[in-house]
Amino acid sequence: MRLCRFEPDRVGLLDGSNVHDVTSALGALGAFRYPLPSHDVLIEALPGLRESLLDEARRVSAVALEDLDLLSPVANPGKIIAAPVNYQKHLLEVRGDVALHHHGMIHDIQRAGLFLKAPSSLIGPSQRIKIRSTERRTDHEVELAVVIGKPCRQVSRTTAANYIAGYSIALDITERGTEERSLRKSIDTYTVLGPWLVTADELPDAGALDLSLEINGELRQKANTRDLILGVADLIEFASSYYGLLPGDVILTGTPQGVGPIRPGDAITASIERIGTMRVEVEAA
Ligand code: MN
Repeated sequence: MRLCRFEPDRVGLLDGSNVHDVTSALGALGAFRYPLPSHDVLIEALPGLRESLLDEARRVSAVALEDLDLLSPVANPGKIIAAPVNYQKHLLEVRGDVALHHHGMIHDIQRAGLFLKAPSSLIGPSQRIKIRSTERRTDHEVELAVVIGKPCRQVSRTTAANYIAGYSIALDITERGTEERSLRKSIDTYTVLGPWLVTADELPDAGALDLSLEINGELRQKANTRDLILGVADLIEFASSYYGLLPGDVILTGTPQGVGPIRPGDAITASIERIGTMRVEVEAA
């Protein structure tokens, strides 16, 4: 299944270049009372909802995808976990540029560990990235995003696949500077997720996917997920040894070489093989 969200707070199933609005099948999610769950209840319920979503998609007519304003396919991730330097060529690129490494502060992922981005930074492709400061350099990072489907902790890499709901494309937008990553990368609109969630049954192996990013039609990043230092299963093992993972938690797997600045007026096109392509515009805050 390819599941998307679009304005105004609708949920859709993709059917080629069309979308069936299956929002009414979400009634089965039930009502919640305060305090609300701290994970994404749609992602949690997805396995049980599958048949009713497909039935609803058969029942309602489709609208053209291009007419929709796409939102983040995960509405309420409890946390967004990110891998800092997880492609060898990106590590070399960062070590070679003081604007990126800030006087040797960069280490490989086994030493640097992981970091968190605030869920409040999350937007979908139709919502523009708003540059906080045009005085500071702000960079694009295209990344494969993994969405966790089931609660887990202390997962071994050999069973990690059981806990994956699916995959999306992410942009980890980054203000350069010496401050903590969680500050510079959690600015409002600095995490983009989209264009939809491809459920794991459609993508059993995310370990060899081409990914790329263009700015205004010019290729900036091009790599393959086989070059990840820690692959998807390794990252789930690593993250779940620190945090309990919950449905809807997102893991950004790290960006490959080719990072560079974005400016107001730019249009970013990010693609990952077998997931799709999303276009995101950039403006001043
Ligand atoms: Mn990143």
